[in-house]
Amino acid sequence: MFRSFAIGAPFGVCVRIQGLFVAFFALLFGYTLVADGWRDGLWFGFVFGAAFTFVWIHEMAHALVARRLGATVVDVTIWPLGGMARLEDVPDSARVEAWIAAAGPAANAIAAGVAFGLAALIDAPTALGGALYLAGWINALLATFNAVPAFPLDGGRLVRAALTPRLGLHRATIVSIWISRVVCLALAIAAVAAGLPFLALIAVAIVVIGARPDGLDDDPISDDEGA
Ligand SMILES: [Zn+2]
Repeated sequence: MFRSFAIGAPFGVCVRIQGLFVAFFALLFGYTLVADGWRDGLWFGFVFGAAFTFVWIHEMAHALVARRLGATVVDVTIWPLGGMARLEDVPDSARVEAWIAAAGPAANAIAAGVAFGLAALIDAPTALGGALYLAGWINALLATFNAVPAFPLDGGRLVRAALTPRLGLHRATIVSIWISRVVCLALAIAAVAAGLPFLALIAVAIVVIGARPDGLDDDPISDDEGA
C-alpha cells in the first residue's frame, strides 16, 4: 500500500519518496488547512517541506561522501520519520564509517551557519529573515539530534568508528550499544525532569531501533567472539 517511488536523481543519486510520507503530509496539511485556515495551512506546508529538504541534504551528504570513498549508493528515501541513504559495498574501514557518519550532521551544521549568517546580514524583521532563522534552527536541530552518540544515529556510528581501531569492530559495536543505552537513559530522565515526556519516548525509541545496528553482517551480540 505504501510503496516508495522515485522522483528524480540529482547528482546521480536516486531520490525516493515513501507513499506513507505523502499520506502523512497530506493528512497533516489537510487538517491544518481545515482546522486553522489557509494561512496556517500554507505555513505548515512550507515548514514541513523545508524540514524534509534539509533531511534530504543530510542524506545526500552521507551518500555523496560514501560514493567518493568507494561505496555504491543505491538510493535516498524520504519517509515520515526522516531519511535513509541506502549504501552497498561500503569499504570495510572505521575511517570510512567515520567520514560517512560525520557528513550528514556536518552538512546540517554548515547549512545552519549559512542560514543564521544570512539572517544576521538582513538584520530586519522581514519574512525572508524569519524564514532564514527558521532554516537555521531546523538545521541546527537536525545536526544536534543526529550527533547524539547513540545508535542508529550518526553520533553512535562515530563512537563505534572511534573505538574500532582499538577494540575491533565486534567489541566496538557492543561497547557503543551500551554507550547508546546510557546516553538515551540520561536523555530520557532529563526529558521527564524537564516535563517533556515526548522526548523521553524518542530516547526510548532510539534504544529499541539501535539495538541491532546495521553495517554488520553478523549479529553483534550473539556472534562468537573474534568471528
Ligand atoms: Zn545521518
